[in-house]
Amino acid sequence: MNPAITQPSSTRGLDHAKRDEDALRVTEDLLAILPKIELHTHLAGNIPEWLFVDMARKYGIQLADPANPYEYVEGMEPFLALFKQVTDTFRTPEDLYRVSYESLVDEHRSSKLRYREVHYAPTINPHVDYADSIAAIAEGMEHAKRDHGVEGRIIIAIYRNQGAAVAEKLVAEMAANPHPAVVGIGIEADETVGPIQLFERTYAMARDAGYRLTAHVGEHADVNEVLCAVDQLKVDRLDHGYALAQDKVATARVVEAGLHLASTWVSARLHPRGLQNPLRTMLDAGLDASISSDDPGICKVTLNEQLLEAALELELPDSYLINQTYSQLTAAWIDDATRSEIRADIDEALTNLRPTHLEK
Ligand SMILES: [Zn+2]
Repeated sequence: MNPAITQPSSTRGLDHAKRDEDALRVTEDLLAILPKIELHTHLAGNIPEWLFVDMARKYGIQLADPANPYEYVEGMEPFLALFKQVTDTFRTPEDLYRVSYESLVDEHRSSKLRYREVHYAPTINPHVDYADSIAAIAEGMEHAKRDHGVEGRIIIAIYRNQGAAVAEKLVAEMAANPHPAVVGIGIEADETVGPIQLFERTYAMARDAGYRLTAHVGEHADVNEVLCAVDQLKVDRLDHGYALAQDKVATARVVEAGLHLASTWVSARLHPRGLQNPLRTMLDAGLDASISSDDPGICKVTLNEQLLEAALELELPDSYLINQTYSQLTAAWIDDATRSEIRADIDEALTNLRPTHLEK
């Protein structure tokens, strides 16, 4: 097989892919066969609508619009209200097992998902304690691997709106209850309410406890959050990061630090569209940025749809879609044996590709 696609390569100097109908078909064929990796999703955002409806019915939860349970007004507040309502259906370990299993299998079926890292925020679930939650989510992931060959790992999410004291208590609980499926810490919810600077001590505690660190920063244009995460929190990866598109110096700092940036199209597309989109700018600046589905359940999208839409709108070549899969695999928080297994699956799927995919 061609070594050009077996090595993760820099996304620096991306070409523009302008697709005619034939080229579009080639991209669709590639997405149909390529095993996918994604590093930025949230458990409550991953639940398919049918499953949420089923869970809500079970607990008699009133839906604002039962015909369209996932219809919500654009904006962070209504989104988080829905996110919390979904989390409110996680009332027993069995519920968490089921949503963990079904959401992985659903994306595996729609998009050939092979590996996903999932943020879970224990502090907004009053029903199931930390250790029982983690055991149940991890078992769902193990069984998804056993039955369908798709696997997952858990990133414990700080729910930033609750502040630092809650987050520090959470990290103490993580340290006291280690589980092999829990690989790191991240942060979710509204970055304008809970700025990253508040959590420097929380991140230090998590690092001391042996966890990897990522941070959702720069989604709403504050580049200082990104720099704080890199230089003060000393993260191993970043999430979103669109503010970098406005700042070449900060971008150079992230490139120099060698940090992978797990971005998402559902949120990047809320910024200027087309070739002015920050994701395209960040890729052109040489950032190692990938595309995850973020909240595919609530947003009613699949990972394949997201990758295709981004590729068409940002004119991303097929080689980028391949390379970002390998670069996410490199940045994934898994052991080397698992990484090699997944790499072999991707390599094998790509062996029969037409040469068109190898052109930049
Ligand atoms: Zn997210």
